[in-house]
Amino acid sequence: LASRLFHPEDSVITVGNTKVGGDNLTIIAGPCSVETEEQMIEVARDVKRAGATLLRGGAYKPRSSPYSFQGLGEDGLKLLKKASEETGLPIVTEAICLDTIDVVAKYSDVIQIGARNMQNFALLKKAGKLGKPVLLKRGLSATIEEWLMAAEYIMSEGNEDVILCERGIRTFETYTRNTLDLSAIPVIKEISHLPIIVDPSHATGKWKMVRPLSKGAVAVGADGLMIEVHNNPECALCDGAQSLKPSKFKELMDELKIV
Ligand code: PEP
Ligand code: MN
Repeated sequence: LASRLFHPEDSVITVGNTKVGGDNLTIIAGPCSVETEEQMIEVARDVKRAGATLLRGGAYKPRSSPYSFQGLGEDGLKLLKKASEETGLPIVTEAICLDTIDVVAKYSDVIQIGARNMQNFALLKKAGKLGKPVLLKRGLSATIEEWLMAAEYIMSEGNEDVILCERGIRTFETYTRNTLDLSAIPVIKEISHLPIIVDPSHATGKWKMVRPLSKGAVAVGADGLMIEVHNNPECALCDGAQSLKPSKFKELMDELKIV
């Protein structure tokens, strides 16, 4: 179902008032985690003004340590909804398990399946049944074939609206959090019709690298970007080191127009 052999045209996926894929450049921006109403509304307004087309924010966080901030849960989803209503930006937010995916679907416009759950087949199948577009991140060490097979799990349940997201893979290199596999974009473009976006924030773990890699991703044909933005990165509860301040995000958006 994901193969271009049987579906030669690029898929274009409608999300609320915007489209992903085709000639559209999708910019998903927002904090790693929903923290407070003030944070969410402020960041949502800033990214909207700068040109973002969708709003992100995690309410259920798949943290590597059980002692790290786990997210606000449904309260976080309510804050996201408020920020979305305030700005008109549709919501992308992650579902981490079968217990909470229904409540995530209730509040979100796109259900995100994170890297750590890329091969959680029960979760993928459920995501395929909820009637909402799914953003499927590449697994921490997943091959492109494994990633596309994960997309098949969603699509074979009747949901063809899958957006792929390259977010870096694990290699021997430790200077960056992950290694951004920009080659995945032309590969996916050749073998699949699904839209593919790039997340340079989780790929690098470093805010300074987000700008050059965002431009690189767009230059090699990505359909969009997912970028973490925080109004006070030094105090962020999660991923502050890779989060752009709104002013830096605005600069990046202006540069992207040239690319
Ligand atoms: C995220 O986008 O919030 C996230 C946890 O990313 P990943 O699954 O790519 O690590
Ligand atoms: Mn994050």
